[in-house]
Amino acid sequence: MGLEVLENKYKLYIKKYPGNISRLQTIAHKIAAVQCSMRDLLDGITSGVCASCEHPCCQCMPVDGWFTESDYFIFRMLYEAPFNLRVPHDSETGCSFLGSQGCVLPKDIRPYPCVKVNCKVVTQQLEAGGKAGQFNRLYDELGSLQEQVWSLLSEFLSSNVLQAQSS
Ligand code: SF4
Ligand code: SF4
Repeated sequence: MGLEVLENKYKLYIKKYPGNISRLQTIAHKIAAVQCSMRDLLDGITSGVCASCEHPCCQCMPVDGWFTESDYFIFRMLYEAPFNLRVPHDSETGCSFLGSQGCVLPKDIRPYPCVKVNCKVVTQQLEAGGKAGQFNRLYDELGSLQEQVWSLLSEFLSSNVLQAQSS
């Protein structure tokens, strides 16, 4: 989903559900702490394996990150809209937040699909370094925080779907 669409949805959401903002902010800070710990585990691995990857995951679809509404609303709890972070590049399939040194989004709040790590090579490296258990615990923690976000957004998202279906 494009950033402009997400930003419009975010503005609509905070107008419609102002009572949910402080709860979302609290969750966003917890997500940031978990993502930082995950990133600490991953940095030592991705800096080595991603440079030589034949099919880099950040270059496989022309998207503004893998932001969904829930990722984006959480991002906006801590940061301004990331329009000016988009990196101009020639790759037709590259993510717009992919810079020459990797992702330019803040390391503590990236889209959930970017953090889940469905990469065999990275998983193997985590296991080889004895860090898979630690990573999986953080992953579960992130998943449970993500569920809390979904529950705060569910009414809004389902009403959006109903609206789209009736138009
Ligand atoms: S995370 Fe995995 S798929 Fe993505 S660039 Fe690195 S090695 Fe490649
Ligand atoms: S990690 Fe960053 S560069 Fe890669 S797909 Fe996600 S947002 Fe884009």
